[in-house]
Amino acid sequence: MPKSENEKGFVDVVNGRYKPKGVFHIPKANQPIFNKDTGKLAGITNPRDMTYMHSYGGEAPFFEGLGKGKLMASRCDNDKCATKGSIYQPFRIYCPDCLRKNTVIDMTDKAKTTAKIHSYIITHRSGAFNSLPKPIKFINVEFEGVVTILMSVLAVGEPEIDKKVVPIFNTKAPTYTIPDLRFVVEGTPESELPEGFTY
Ligand SMILES: [Zn+2]
Repeated sequence: MPKSENEKGFVDVVNGRYKPKGVFHIPKANQPIFNKDTGKLAGITNPRDMTYMHSYGGEAPFFEGLGKGKLMASRCDNDKCATKGSIYQPFRIYCPDCLRKNTVIDMTDKAKTTAKIHSYIITHRSGAFNSLPKPIKFINVEFEGVVTILMSVLAVGEPEIDKKVVPIFNTKAPTYTIPDLRFVVEGTPESELPEGFTY
């Protein structure tokens, strides 16, 4: 059931500290579990409603960027690193080779001009809490000059290996989660994008 404002938890960071406000644990009535063969009690259900504070830490620029129509990546700029210049998408906070902190870079233009489908899978059944329209067209996306492959979703069009795709962003009502980023086949008119999404 949708929660009222009084039943939600909110958090701000003030002076470097998390300041929670509101309700983070809502108790719900439990139910007995009876053995229908014997009529005896077997246990109880344990409904819980908890709001979890998920800190993004060094990955925050990536999720903040999506709501602004930007695809942020990271790059190793360490002169002493054998793989200096490697660009990581998905965003990696640290270089896996030299373990130094990567530089945050904006790769939106690179994604718009060089993204293509590396591989894909179409699924008609999804797990719990799925919010994506079915069938879900999961795509692995490769970008020119990027050393990693990004997993995403094709929102419009049919997937095909090597097909050019373009990122779209949930800029109208960002959730600051990964479904704010999706892809469509190149040439999709703006009017066909999912609600709230823009190029
Ligand atoms: Zn490095």
